[in-house]
Amino acid sequence: MKPKCPKCNSEEFVTKPNRYDILKLGDKKFDVVKSEFTEDKYKMYCRDCGSEIDEKSSMKKNKITLKT
Ligand SMILES: [Zn+2]
Repeated sequence: MKPKCPKCNSEEFVTKPNRYDILKLGDKKFDVVKSEFTEDKYKMYCRDCGSEIDEKSSMKKNKITLKT
């Protein structure tokens, strides 16, 4: 069984604040030069319902745990 969001059963999670990409305009398209993180600390959210994930406790219990 895959770990899912207890609220909406999504299996995908995102981090915020997100990293940002440094782009350069190349041959009629933008190329990613490199990616940087805006901050060392980040928060994790469910991709679908936006609930904040408790990363540490999720890893410890090996199941998705929401922050209360
Ligand atoms: Zn969710």
